[in-house]
Amino acid sequence: MKLDSMTFVLFGATGDLAKRKIFPALYNLFLDGKFPHSFSIIGLGRRSWSDNTFQAHIEESLKTFSRRLESNTASIEKFLRAFRYVALDVTNGETYEKLLDMIQQRERELSIPENRLFYLSVSPEFVDVITSNINQSGLGSTTGWKRLIIEKPFGHDLLSAQELNQKLLQTFKEEEIYRIDHYLGKTMVQNLEAIIFANPILQVLRNNQCISNIQITASETVGVEERASYYDQSGALRDMVQNHMLQLLMMTAMHLPKSRNAKHIREQKIKVMENLRPLGKKTIDLHVVRGQYESGEIHGESVVGYKEEPGITPCTVNDTFVAARLWIDDYFWNGVPFYIRTGKRMKEKSTRIVIEFKNSFNDLYAVENREINPNILVIEIGPNEGISLQLNSKNALNYNKIEPILTQFSSDQKDVPEAYELLLFDALRGDATFFASWKEVELSWRWVQPILEAFKNNDLPLHSYSAGSMGPDASDQLLKEDGFIWW
Ligand code: NAD
Repeated sequence: MKLDSMTFVLFGATGDLAKRKIFPALYNLFLDGKFPHSFSIIGLGRRSWSDNTFQAHIEESLKTFSRRLESNTASIEKFLRAFRYVALDVTNGETYEKLLDMIQQRERELSIPENRLFYLSVSPEFVDVITSNINQSGLGSTTGWKRLIIEKPFGHDLLSAQELNQKLLQTFKEEEIYRIDHYLGKTMVQNLEAIIFANPILQVLRNNQCISNIQITASETVGVEERASYYDQSGALRDMVQNHMLQLLMMTAMHLPKSRNAKHIREQKIKVMENLRPLGKKTIDLHVVRGQYESGEIHGESVVGYKEEPGITPCTVNDTFVAARLWIDDYFWNGVPFYIRTGKRMKEKSTRIVIEFKNSFNDLYAVENREINPNILVIEIGPNEGISLQLNSKNALNYNKIEPILTQFSSDQKDVPEAYELLLFDALRGDATFFASWKEVELSWRWVQPILEAFKNNDLPLHSYSAGSMGPDASDQLLKEDGFIWW
């Protein structure tokens, strides 16, 4: 596939995300030939670096974080030659003229069209000022295409997200905006649509006649790490539920799109959110569990509780765990509960989707009132990727008892591209399928907003859970009420 020559303008080029994810992703795309023939990359940061210092910084980042490092040093040198650095204070409009000069000079040198991709890897407070400076300086008035990639978080509640979006629209059109949700870049999440729709045997079973419930878990073993001040303001609801968990829900529950392009897939995802039953003030505590970890042990190591973590307000009521029961009120999903849970300092690091099927022939096989195990389809998203299906079978060695057997596929593909690689490649070729559209983001905030307010007003109990567990008992109780367990 031939990609348009372009200039990649990276705000926040001296930052942590650029070092760990963005440079390695760009380099791996470059090694795979998934890059335009001619391109220029301009890095921006506050530090006064020379081009050489910047290129040495990138080389170091590749050596530390790239999943591959071509032994052929010529390829790395060729890659680094495309990089230039401009020191710029993003809040100072005048310095953008210097940036425009540099970009135009490079466009002339390389004889490339004015295709410009702006990537804002900076704190959210700068997004507004940067896009308006891109507009006012003329950087955004290109004769080619322009695109904007922005990182999460997109707002901190419904209103701030709406305001931010309005501001972005003054410079970029919706189809020019690529909102990163890195969960959508995970290979197994991108594979979900194929697993569901390219397999008729699953497609026919995807309805409330056959499925009893669906569970989506994203558990982490880490605590707040170096992000204490951010996390203490954000909590699991903003950090994980509003974006990643609801995106996983949309990808799992969406119906067959007319085609596999961004427009049709997004249409289906938006329908899921439109049909998601809103939680009223009085029902939130019935369907949502909020938790915070206490000290405990993870993989044999003692860890402190959330309140004792460095940088955390000692009396904080911030949520480090959220579980919820959701209902999608459409013809196919009516009556099928979807459960989500996410938390820090849990027993295992895992992101998975579990689809539990109904047991229609239970009476025939139940022994001594003990039900047989349900059929379960598990889609492992990370850190391991795979699919497993639990079936029932007679065990001849155990008095022909019905026992579960597992058919399993696990991806052992080496060198699977990282999320940022897949997403950046899509942005380079102008495919927004796996980026969050405004409507998805807005509907997600709309669903989350009453829960945010209930948390803020302390309308819900804050359940504690031991570090190293799978969350508070109340989360298990949520499923028990419906006769289910977390798988
Ligand atoms: P960072 O603090 O390491 O880097 C911030 C960058 O912004 C630096 O390059 C710095 O020079 C630049 N910057 C700050 N103020 C500036 C100014 N006034 N003028 C010019 N440049 C300025 O942050 P990071 O970890 O690289 O993350 C960047 C953003 O990406 C975060 O704010 C967050 O919104 C998002 N994000 C990061 C991660 C992650 O894993 N690091 C994950 C998800 C989202």
